[in-house]
Parts: sequence; C-alpha cells; structure tokens
Amino acid sequence: MAQMKRILVIYTGGTFGMLKNEKGVLVPQKNIEQVVRRLPQLHDEEYWTENFANTNVKDYLVLPDGKDTELKVLYKIYEYEELKDSSDFTLDDWIKMARDIKRFYHDYDGFVVLHGTDTTAYGASILSFMLEVVGKTVVLTGAQIPIFQPRSDGSNNLLCAVLIAATQHIPEVTVFFGSKLFRGTRVKKVSNTRIHAFDSPNFPPLLEAKTTLDVDPKMLIHPAGSVPNECRIHDKLSRKVYVLKVAPTITPEVIRAVFDNMEGVVLETYGNGNMPIKRRDIYREIERAVKNNVLVVNVTQCFNGTVLGKAIYETGLLLVECGVVPAFDMTSEAVLAKLSYVLSKTELSYQQKVELMKTNIRGELYNPQH
Ligand code: ASP
Repeated sequence: MAQMKRILVIYTGGTFGMLKNEKGVLVPQKNIEQVVRRLPQLHDEEYWTENFANTNVKDYLVLPDGKDTELKVLYKIYEYEELKDSSDFTLDDWIKMARDIKRFYHDYDGFVVLHGTDTTAYGASILSFMLEVVGKTVVLTGAQIPIFQPRSDGSNNLLCAVLIAATQHIPEVTVFFGSKLFRGTRVKKVSNTRIHAFDSPNFPPLLEAKTTLDVDPKMLIHPAGSVPNECRIHDKLSRKVYVLKVAPTITPEVIRAVFDNMEGVVLETYGNGNMPIKRRDIYREIERAVKNNVLVVNVTQCFNGTVLGKAIYETGLLLVECGVVPAFDMTSEAVLAKLSYVLSKTELSYQQKVELMKTNIRGELYNPQH
C-alpha cells in the first residue's frame, strides 16, 4: 500500500466558505466538508468508498492520485464551532489556533489553516511567533472567491496547501495563495480583487507552484533536520499594542490618544523612517512615551524598503535619538505581532525586549548590523 500522509485542515471561516445572506453580504457557512467532498479535484470518492468507508479513517477526505507520487494524502477538516470573517478575529482566535496545532501535533503530518484573507498577514505573523518550535509544515490559505462559485480560487489554494503540507518539510508558518508560498512573517495582503492577493515585498517567496511543488531548502529559516519534531508554543500575547500611521494632519493629541496605556506602538512613518520635526509638540509626545517605557518601533509606510538604526534624513534623526526602535525590513503586521509576543515576555527587561525587536527570530527581518 502507498505511504499515507495525514493533514489537519483547520477551517476558521473566511471567503473560502462564504455565501450571501438575506442582506446580500457574504458570511461564513457551516459544514464545509460536505461541499469539498463533492469536488473531484479535492476528494477521490471512489477510492474512499473502496478503501476507507468502513475503516477508522472514514472521516478523512482523500486527494486523488498524482501521477508522479506514490503518496496517499488524507486530510481531515476540523471546523470551528464559530466561523468568522477574519476581520472579527482577536488575539484569542490565534491563540486558539496555536493551541489546536499543538494539541493535534502528533496526530498529523502537517497543518493547513483556512483563514479569511483580511487578517491573514497578521495571523501568519502572530502564529509564527507563538509557535516557538514547530517541526512540521504549517500553511495558511483561503480564497478570494467562495468555493461555491465556479471561478473560485479556493480549491486550487486548498489543494496546493494540503499537498505542500504533505510533501514538503517546511518547519515554519507559511501562506499559500495564488501560486506562491510565502513566509508567514513576510506576507502582506496586496489586493482585494486579484487572485494573487498576497505578496512579500522584502523577501522572495519560499516556493512557486510550477509543474512541481518543491521548496528550495536554502529559503527556509532552519536548515533541514535542525528542528526537533515537536511543537512548543508561547500562548501569551500583549493586547496593549497598536499601529499609528504618520500623516500630514497628525497632532500631539492623536499621538497621546494612541500611546497612552499602550505597551508597544508600531509607528508607520514616511520613507526611510521620517516624520515632521518642525512641530516639536508632536515629537515631544513620542519622546515622553519612550521615556515611560512604551516600546515604539519605526516602520516605513512604503510597500518595500527598510528603516535602519541610523537616520538618513534630519526628519528621521529625532526618532533615533529618543530611542525609537528601527523595524528594518519588517512589515507593519509582523512588527505588531512581534511586539505583542515580545511584550508578553515579562521575564525580559525593557532593554532586552528592545534587543529582541531588532533581532531576527522567525525570518521576519534582515538587520545588516547583526
Ligand atoms: N472578509 C474576508 C475575511 O477575511 C475576506 C476573505 O477571506 O477573503 O474573512
């Protein structure tokens, strides 16, 4: 008999399984397995009836055979009780996902999370930090067009995600969408209409779906064989983190309103990390917050680029001088996730947290000074 791989697909909601309600707007639908089961590219009903129907693997779906592999890929859809549009996710939803991956870690060969695209970039980053050790492939995916529609991208996304989880050893959190697999801490949603909804502006994709689905091991965070086959999670996160974008109409009151009661702030600045300096009242609010141990990280608003530890313009110097931490080439989503993770490590001093923010821990940044 062919070698079998078992994948757990955690279905959390999102467009993948949505239909319009009576108000004409998309909402998640339950029992998605019934729909997936009827799609021949996602389930071989004949094989299942002959081989699995009366066995202890009857609640699995089975991928049709690939011509080039001996592998039998089985997957089980674990549907959450409360399915959500991912815009409704809070940190608790990702904590639940991390705990479920840990809970089922030894029962499966890999994990897929069906996730709404709106917050996939946040979710993938948050899960990357929470899963401190994960020895198996974790792939987030979803759809721009619901699986119920003929032009849905959902079935190809799910198929590729399951195949990657079953055939590739990528011990980190990733996102598959369109035709590419991205590192979880590098991905951004770049379109709400295109089938290629994601990109990773400062880092190449880990894999591109061609006639084959092979990852280049040199792209991975960990060299092959260096990650133990186990799952260790850190399931505490700071909720006192937020993102503030610098815009020409910014006022000291806006800064105060966001920074007060926060432990960490992602400050999205112009260009290389610049902000207005002629209005000192604005700067003073940020300086005051840093003195009060708010961990402020300077990330560029640009789609692509980096904020270094050394200012390039006078308009970036004050932030460096008052102790705002450079994000280097991290995305805003990754910085928010990392702040939430790092700030929850109460055993660390403020300075240790600052150092950790500047250190690459999940492939999220390149710091040329390290
Ligand atoms: N609003 C949806 C969600 O994030 C969008 C999607 O899944 O594409 O759940």
